[in-house]
Amino acid sequence: MHNNEIAVIYGKNPKEMVKRLLENINLGSGWKKEATIALKPNLVVSKKASSGATTSPEMVEGVIVYLQQQGFKNLTIMESSWIGDSTTKAFKVCGYEEISKKYQVPLLDLKKDATKTVKIKDLDLKVCASVYDVDVFINLPVLKGHCQTKMTCALKNMKGCIPDDEKRRYHTLGLHKPIAYLNKALKQDVVIVDGMMGDLNFEEGGTPVEMDRIIVGRDPVLIDSYIAELMGYNIEDIPYIPISAELGIGSTNLRDAVVTEYDIDNKNINTMKASSEVARLAKYIIDQDACSACYGTLIHALQRLKDKGKLDVLGEKIYIGQGYRGQASEGIGIGLCTSKFARSVGGCPPKAKDIVAFLEEE
Ligand code: SF4
Repeated sequence: MHNNEIAVIYGKNPKEMVKRLLENINLGSGWKKEATIALKPNLVVSKKASSGATTSPEMVEGVIVYLQQQGFKNLTIMESSWIGDSTTKAFKVCGYEEISKKYQVPLLDLKKDATKTVKIKDLDLKVCASVYDVDVFINLPVLKGHCQTKMTCALKNMKGCIPDDEKRRYHTLGLHKPIAYLNKALKQDVVIVDGMMGDLNFEEGGTPVEMDRIIVGRDPVLIDSYIAELMGYNIEDIPYIPISAELGIGSTNLRDAVVTEYDIDNKNINTMKASSEVARLAKYIIDQDACSACYGTLIHALQRLKDKGKLDVLGEKIYIGQGYRGQASEGIGIGLCTSKFARSVGGCPPKAKDIVAFLEEE
């Protein structure tokens, strides 16, 4: 897989999906079998993945099964939850203790790790030392919103590799600059994004949105750029992404990105019980058999419109779903299924950024 490539798979079974995706991209083909490999999920809080906050243990299990089948034995799951939460508790609650026992993969609580200081330009950054001891670093973030940085995915997930006092300091430094600089100090080799059910707005979950996809790439800046648009943002809306690009960590150039989608027909009808916040946005939607991947994207787009104060001026409802295939209408339709509508946003599923741009014009 080249740095400008992104692979996406759709479905409902993250364990099987990720195995298939990694087989397709032949992950690990150039790595030594004795390589030490870090698996870094997002376990920011002790809440299950269904809350929208944490990385799906089923997806991580699929990664482990794939790597072990390829002959890689030296795997470690490492993480440090946010200040005030115990990583040990998160390992247990989020299902990682079980995976650890089942596959003999040790858990490392980075809160207990030694630290080292790395200077990047004018910033001295304290980072967990164990991260430097591995040959391969696999980042396993969740695609989700964040109340301060708008979104969190590949670049921000590295904040789990620093000690708690440093996490506090990042807030005094405005988050964006230190997050970007941290990614200059710590290299990640592969990003496998849990895009099954991340949170709409909050790092700590509570408003999960089904998105039914897993996304893999090598360049964390490109991955975050892709995720930003998927969630309805412009790349510049998330300053740590362009700062990271300026530091040479990766590229924001989505025009030259090669995106390969697998199992695009494997999109499941949305049946999720919405949180009250998501239900408020859903009032603007008329859904007939919409896939979760499509519906979730529209929810993100409506939230972006709401952020801009433009949701309430939307004078009509929006149609979405496979039930509208082939139907002509004067209304606004979302996705390829509504291509016969007078006004329709293409894509299967579309990006939230395109939906936002379209609705802003209406
Ligand atoms: S356009 Fe239709 S088939 Fe494609 S994701 Fe949306 S609802 Fe599903």
